[in-house]
Order: sequence, then structure tokens, then C-alpha cells
Amino acid sequence: MKSQTALAFEYSYLDLPEAFYTQLAPTPVAEPRLVALNDALAQELGLHLPGLSSQDKAALFSGNRLTPDAQPFAQAYAGHQFGGFTMLGDGRAHVLGELVTPSGDRVDVQLKGSGPTPYSRRGDGRAALGPMLREYVISEAMHAMGIPTTRALAVVTTGQTVYREQPEQGAILTRTAASHLRVGTFEYASALGNPAPLQALLDYTLARHFPNLADADDKAIALLDVVMQKQIDLIVHWMRVGFIHGVMNTDNMALSGETIDYGPCAFMDSYDPATVFSSIDHQGRYAYANQPKIALWNLTRFAEALLPVIDDDEKQAIAKAEATLNTFSTGYRKKWLAMMRAKLGLTKEDEADETLIAGLLNWMKATKADYTNTFRDLGSPGFSPGCKAPYDTEAFSAWHTDWQARRERYGESRKASQALMQQTNPAIIPRNHKVEEALTATSDGDLKPFRTLLSALQSPYDDHHGLAPYQLPAPEGSCRYQTFCGT
Ligand code: AMP
Ligand code: MG
Repeated sequence: MKSQTALAFEYSYLDLPEAFYTQLAPTPVAEPRLVALNDALAQELGLHLPGLSSQDKAALFSGNRLTPDAQPFAQAYAGHQFGGFTMLGDGRAHVLGELVTPSGDRVDVQLKGSGPTPYSRRGDGRAALGPMLREYVISEAMHAMGIPTTRALAVVTTGQTVYREQPEQGAILTRTAASHLRVGTFEYASALGNPAPLQALLDYTLARHFPNLADADDKAIALLDVVMQKQIDLIVHWMRVGFIHGVMNTDNMALSGETIDYGPCAFMDSYDPATVFSSIDHQGRYAYANQPKIALWNLTRFAEALLPVIDDDEKQAIAKAEATLNTFSTGYRKKWLAMMRAKLGLTKEDEADETLIAGLLNWMKATKADYTNTFRDLGSPGFSPGCKAPYDTEAFSAWHTDWQARRERYGESRKASQALMQQTNPAIIPRNHKVEEALTATSDGDLKPFRTLLSALQSPYDDHHGLAPYQLPAPEGSCRYQTFCGT
């Protein structure tokens, strides 16, 4: 079929030692049906799909039909899950292959929910429709907000039932990623106990993501440092929009710096640094405010895995790794401050900025102010304190006066400041109750709310018509929102 030649897969990953993967095909499904297709992404990837019927697309994005040269595989990896080390691997995913896009980027095309693999442990290798559509809508919202992320190309239902807490419609998500290399891939390589595969993985990762570092004197340290910078940038983005990943295990930290694995993630409504959504995160390990600390914890596991290729002398290796990791906190703080300044429309630096920012955050926490709406309100041209709740208090008014005085002291114009705030503070995020509403409708066969939500999230920084229903926090009295793993 002509259009299928558009899926000209490459397989650079299969040049790694065999221990890093298992080649196997997805398990065919009974009755694949296309539920969602991301035309804009298909175009970016250079795929020519319009010539294909809906059935052809469903066959392709379920893994029922493979392109003639396909060599699908599941990746091996390990990971620290909630602090404990485990051997893992793609237990329900197959990489169909890598595409080189018209702009020259290499991306993995992966099916998720496509059947068991040797890494499935006790899992069924499958996924349910709700969580796959959830990943679709949230990852696309993240992309639209300018946050590095894997993306969603398609969702098909399988015509088969999967059993979770109750029977669910089975589904497969096709996602694209700069790669699926994770901190956990290095932990796996290191656990093999032989420096050769670790060295091969190091060379591959540099060649694939950071070719300018391929000839660095200290390759492993160069990789540790660049991955750390990418993670700092990513976490700062998450903090900016109130995103809580929910399961920041080392197997869910991509070396490319993309957000990956939308399991029990959610966006914070009322500002509270201790916010957790995941039903299994009883300790609050992955709470909103813990995310930078956990990123450093994960990077420390990354550094440990790299030790044998940092230096033959272990003491030297540890000293070099520590010197790099020790720069995390200052680096993060600096970028976080710059981001928070931008949220307040400030570009110049002042020593008292941290106090100013803390003043607002403390007020928000005390008043349970909505994180998204507060910053959006502050940046809107008509805003003045005292005119509506929750801004009609003396405490807020005093903070507002300080903030405006701070802006004027550095000659930052109100207009420029507001413009910066509008580019930094989204007007719309995928609010939990709206996402759930859309997913519930979908399970009843009504795709309209899902499509409307998806389309509203396409331009998150614009005040557009019809935005209002998406800006309201969850209605008072609704149950505490919880998200679930193992979906
Ligand atoms: P996650 O929590 O989605 O990052 O997954 C952690 C590990 O569990 C990975 O190795 C997944 O491949 C595996 N896994 C998750 N769900 C399933 C499933 N239904 N069947 C088999 N493996 C799974
Ligand atoms: Mg994962």
C-alpha cells in the first residue's frame, strides 16, 4: 500500500547489545477501531495518512498490520519505583520503529497496550480506553503549553475487554517520543555488571540526543550534566503550570528531558505545595513541591549507574559525579526564580524577589486560591485588587502594592509586564473534573466532550471565546480527586 511507505522506520536502537531489547510483534487484537487521530502531529512526522481508510489506520495503530520491513521490539530497563530498585522493561508496549521527520528529528513510534512481552511480569500487557485518552489529552495540552513531552498520535479501541477494578474497553495508544531512553535504561545497563553495554548505551545516548558532546573528554559527566539541565528545565515548567507527575520513578524520567508516562498525573487547582493525587502515594513522595528534590534523587541514581564509565577509580568517579550533582540546587533555584518572576511579569532581578514571591504563595495557600486563575487574573489588563473575592482583602492589597512598586522601581511597563504574564501563565489547563467528564462521555460512546476539550487546550495562552467552563475549579463538595496507577 502506497501510503504505508510513508512509515519508513529505522532501527538505530537495535544497534545496541541484544540485552537492551526483545524483538517481538504486538499481539493482534479482535476488532481495532480508530477513536482519535492527531492529524497535526501526523503532518509534523511527515506521515501521509489521508489516503488510508479508517480501518487501515486502525489496523496500523493497533499493531494488527505491520509495515513490510517492521522489526518491532520491547525495551529492557530497570528503575527505582517509590524508592525501591526493580528490573522492569516494556511490559505492555512495543516500539514500532523510529521515524526521521521532515525537520530531521528522530522519534520513536511506540504502541502502548499492545500485548504482553517478556517484561510483563504479572500484567496483561493491555491498557484501558480511559487512561489512554487521558494520556492523549494531557500530553497534547502539555505540548500546547510549550512543555517538552512525548506526544499522542492515535488511540484505537481493541474490541476486547480488559479487567481492572471493573471491566473496561481495551485500547492502544500510539505515542511518539524523542526516544524512550530513561534513567532506568542506564540502571539496567549498570546492573548487567559489565562496562561494555554501559559504554555502548552511553555512546548511543550521546549520538542520539547530544551529538555535540559525543567527543567530550569526560563523556559520562557531560551526559550527567546535560540530562540534569534538561530535568531542571522540565521541572521548572511543571512547577509553572501546577503539573504533578505523580509517579516520578526513575523508569519514568526520560533522558531527552520530555515528560513521559502520564499515569496518575494531574494539575493542581487550589495552591498547596503538598498536593498529591496518586492513590498509592500515601507518603506524598511525589507531591507538587517535592518534584525538584525527587528529580535530584533520580539524577543521583543516574550518576550511580554511570560510575563505572565515569572513572576506573571509583573514588574519583564518585567525586566527579558529586561535583556535578552539587550544582543542581543552585541551578534549579536560579531557573525557578526566573520562571516565577516571569509569572509576575518581572524581568529584572531584585534581592527581595524571593520574599515577594513567597508572600503571594503563602497568601494563595492560606486562601486556597486557584493556582492557574490567580496568576491569569493578576496579568489581565483590567485587574485591580479590592474588586472581587478573593482579592478584596487588606493582606492581598498590601502584597499587590509591593508588587506594583517593585515593577515600577525597575521601569518595567505595565503593558510589557502583562504581555509577559500572558505568555507565561496559561488561561486553560486540563482540569481534572473536565478531563473526567470527557472520559466518562467517551466510555458511553460520546466523543464530543473529548474533542471539545482537546480543541480548547490547543491555545492555552489565549483568552478565547468559550473558555469559561474550563476555567472553573472543580465544584465545591466534589470528592477529593484521585488518580490511579497500573491502568
Ligand atoms: P508505569 O507505572 O506505567 O510506568 O509502568 C511500570 C512498569 O509496569 C513498566 O515496566 C510497564 O511496562 C509495566 N506495566 C504497567 N502496566 C502493565 C500491564 N497492564 N501489563 C504489563 N506490564 C505493565
Ligand atoms: Mg513507565
